[in-house]
Amino acid sequence: MERPAVGELTPPNRTLMGPGPSDVHPRVRRAMATPLVGHLDPAFVDLMDEVQELLRYVFRTDNEWTVPISGTGSAAMEAAIANLTEPGDTVVVPGNGYFGGRMASMVERSGGETVTVDAPWGEPLDIDDVRAAFDAHDPDLLAFVHGETSTGVLQPDVPALTELAHDNDALTIVDAVTTFGGVELKVDEWEIDAAYSAAQKCLSAPPGASPLTLGERAMAKIEQRESSVNSWYLDLTELTDYWGEERAYHHTAPITNVYALREALRLAAEEGIEARWERHERVANGLRAGIEAMGLELASTSWLPSLNTVRLPADIEDATVTDELLDGYDIEVAGGLGDLSGEILRIGCMGHSARRSNVLSVLGALGDVLG
Ligand code: PLP
Repeated sequence: MERPAVGELTPPNRTLMGPGPSDVHPRVRRAMATPLVGHLDPAFVDLMDEVQELLRYVFRTDNEWTVPISGTGSAAMEAAIANLTEPGDTVVVPGNGYFGGRMASMVERSGGETVTVDAPWGEPLDIDDVRAAFDAHDPDLLAFVHGETSTGVLQPDVPALTELAHDNDALTIVDAVTTFGGVELKVDEWEIDAAYSAAQKCLSAPPGASPLTLGERAMAKIEQRESSVNSWYLDLTELTDYWGEERAYHHTAPITNVYALREALRLAAEEGIEARWERHERVANGLRAGIEAMGLELASTSWLPSLNTVRLPADIEDATVTDELLDGYDIEVAGGLGDLSGEILRIGCMGHSARRSNVLSVLGALGDVLG
């Protein structure tokens, strides 16, 4: 067999303004170029403690069980769902976006039954519909998406949903993939039992080590499980020895991704979490104003600053716009998913990408392309 003549890696220099990944901060890239240590090296063990402390700061929680899960956001999602769903459990899942469907699939693989609360794509769940699902099905868990990346919808009033669940002895799982580190999220104050995220959205680190936090009620449910979790890799009772006092081998942590996550979280802490939420809102507001000034409308009735969905005129295909922005301007934005496929653009405003200069580039390029 001939030796493959593959050239040196020279990826194009894009501006990442899609639904993630976002532009990686130069300090995060530098952290990734530092030498590896072993995953059980005392230096790495100290670093794990620091990452946990920083994750707690950004989640606004004192939860002991706050860790990066090895894998992308879906791994953290599956860790939350597979550990908290026992066979026969009933779980309320949202039907108003793409990622609710993924949650439902994970619940079913864990032997749970799903009850879907629907709303049109582009609108948040209505608490009265969630209440009706509780009255009719007496569920064990309520899972919902705080920031739906497929629709640009922010689920408002999270405390009202967690209160409803707790009044009915159910636990809550919150998908904070597109809100963690960019949009107000308060795990303890809002009494969220389990929340997870990803590194490549409002944190601007590469995907691969994903934040997860679980409160005492959630951990108690996992410890009292009658059946074992149907995933060896993501079974949190197996991971306890790795993240707990013992730091015993479970799997080899993605060391470079943990370095990246640590630096990205350090940047968030330096900026201050409230200031970071405010920056995302301010910069995305500029984007929104520019879009509206072009005569276009947002496709969401509950604005999510980190992910802006723009309804396109009926005669324009989303792929035409996304291709022209990528080929002609080196700017990545995305088209629609699922029910909104072909109809919208999804423009992210996340982490290091949430900068005025990026917004001005996108608006200028979009103005050219739409003519
Ligand atoms: N949940 C939401 C809301 C997301 O936007 C995504 C990814 O875009 C995921 C879950 C899954 O994360 P990942 O693609 O990192 O596995």
